[in-house]
Amino acid sequence: MPQTLIERTPILPQPAHDVSDAPQQRLKALEGKPPGSLVIHEIYRSIQGESTFAGLPCVFVRLTACQLRCGYCDTKHAFKQGETLALDEVLARALALGGNLVELTGGEPLLQPEVFPLMTRLADAGRTVLLETSGALDIGPVDARVHIILDLKTPGSGEVDANLWSNLARLKARDEVKFVLCDRRDFEWAVEQVRRYELTDRCPVLFSTAFGQLSPTELAAWVLESGLPVRLQLQMHKILWDPSARGV
Ligand code: SF4
Repeated sequence: MPQTLIERTPILPQPAHDVSDAPQQRLKALEGKPPGSLVIHEIYRSIQGESTFAGLPCVFVRLTACQLRCGYCDTKHAFKQGETLALDEVLARALALGGNLVELTGGEPLLQPEVFPLMTRLADAGRTVLLETSGALDIGPVDARVHIILDLKTPGSGEVDANLWSNLARLKARDEVKFVLCDRRDFEWAVEQVRRYELTDRCPVLFSTAFGQLSPTELAAWVLESGLPVRLQLQMHKILWDPSARGV
């Protein structure tokens, strides 16, 4: 990874609790977290690799822990390692990295209630704020200035039952819906949801491939064949850097 392109804060993931994959153990890294603090896996500056903001410099605040276990998850390292920081400290570190764009991601950022005031304060500071969320938790309390990227889980993810469908009624024109597709069955399922909920009339819709599972070239052909105005999304950071690199 070319270090000159990445500016990182000195957050070093620390060994946290021993977290197994059993559902009742998945949030153990957040247990005992003092109110007003967040468990943060990393904060860094890189190139935004996804969404309609792809290609822009962006500060990423990655929060620890996720209640889901998608088969293709590429951020498993965020499940259980992190540093507990006061909200003010997280804000200061994110702002210190400069730029206009900040993304809250994870793990699942909405598991920690302090992320809501963090997003508001980042927006108050003039940042354009993106939130990447699984779509399994209520987006209702999110500041209206935030661009929500709602990652609807497909059958191929193994977590389709986790989708909170009431979130779709809360989508704003500035939000985006993302589908990560594993195969043709996922594609057909996603097309069905786009049509059923008229998603492309409401906000940008992103079709992405599960890295290494589905060819983007094949997906491009399917998108053209569908006639839908959905955006084929490549994970730019995986093209720029090693696909397994962290902090990019
Ligand atoms: S929701 Fe995101 S962080 Fe959680 S398991 Fe799925 S891909 Fe990984």
